[in-house]
Amino acid sequence: MSRQQFHSTWIEIDLEAVRNNVSLIKESTGVDVLAIVKANAYSHGAVPVARAALEAGATWLGVARVSELLELRSGGISAPVLMLGYVPPLRLEEVIDLDCVLTVWSCDQLEEISAAAARMGKYTRVHIKVDTGMSRLGVQAQNAIDLVRSVEQFPGVVLEGLFTHFARADELDATTTNQQEALFDQVLRQLEAENLRPPLVHASNSAASLTRPSAHYSLVRLGNAMYGLHPSPECQNPSTYQAALSWKSYLGQVKMLEPGRGLSYGHNYTTSRHERIGTVPVGYADGYRRIEGNQVLVGGKLCPVVGRVCMDYILVQLDEVPDAQAGDEVVLIGKQGDAVLSAENVAKIWGTINYEVVCVIGARVSRYFDNA
Ligand SMILES: *Cc1c(COP(=O)(O)O)cnc(C)c1O
Repeated sequence: MSRQQFHSTWIEIDLEAVRNNVSLIKESTGVDVLAIVKANAYSHGAVPVARAALEAGATWLGVARVSELLELRSGGISAPVLMLGYVPPLRLEEVIDLDCVLTVWSCDQLEEISAAAARMGKYTRVHIKVDTGMSRLGVQAQNAIDLVRSVEQFPGVVLEGLFTHFARADELDATTTNQQEALFDQVLRQLEAENLRPPLVHASNSAASLTRPSAHYSLVRLGNAMYGLHPSPECQNPSTYQAALSWKSYLGQVKMLEPGRGLSYGHNYTTSRHERIGTVPVGYADGYRRIEGNQVLVGGKLCPVVGRVCMDYILVQLDEVPDAQAGDEVVLIGKQGDAVLSAENVAKIWGTINYEVVCVIGARVSRYFDNA
């Protein structure tokens, strides 16, 4: 049974690409890998991606929401999971019960965690996050030592790690990242002087994993590069990394329209001659951006999307592929023959980053896992 006979639009995830990318980063950094599988593994499918990453040697997983932890655990994954940030207070017992490692930046949190751990009769491991310049989450660097010192007042809480997050590691100009790393190192030296340095220290996202050995510490937190997505136009993965995700659909209907026909809502495209137009069952409800200028691959050629993107459909101008017929594959992201339309290409058209392109792929889009 072919995929298009069963689904209108779907994504294909090559789990061998995920394994390949994790092995490459493990090899090049020589440290442990924490595989970031938040946001349903950047839409790639949390449980299968987590399994593939662990098979390839990752030892940790990272999530951003309680629901993401629950999905991993109910999917049978028992590897250590770091909750990268905020946990709503009423969910603390639930996450502690599932042996989640928590991120902490204040005494108030330590108190709440300690109380919840006592109620559950469990120890809870925490990593303290230091804000060295991202200005999002974390204890300010000058207060980090005090926070570390205070952990011992909270029974049931075990300080396992210390980490920070870079704001600009994907840029060529390393000034900010140098400053953040220097500030983090200063905190580490003070902790060492007091014999308080926790066993695990980490700072690198994908960009810093690729470019910054001095920031690899105990482990790297690998997101984008694990999926074969480039951290930024200035910070590209080596060519041995492979993109894991393809997004596909097919021509549901193909017709020849006479000159002067308006297309889709608003008729903001009008045929100027006889034009072959294909209708593809994918739309903004699937996460496809409702803007002008989209392109897709049909018959190995780039074809323009014309007229407005609808909730469930797009229209494609088929001048480039006169032989195209109903049933032919349409690639929204990925390869077709020798042609490639990458998530980076789509990001450029959408005026955003590849991260957002994959993350907004809708829940309605089915997933196929290859090389599981
Ligand atoms: C999402 C996230 C990462 C992964 O970032 P990539 O750029 O995708 O590698 C790493 N660390 C933290 C704290 C994150 O929130």
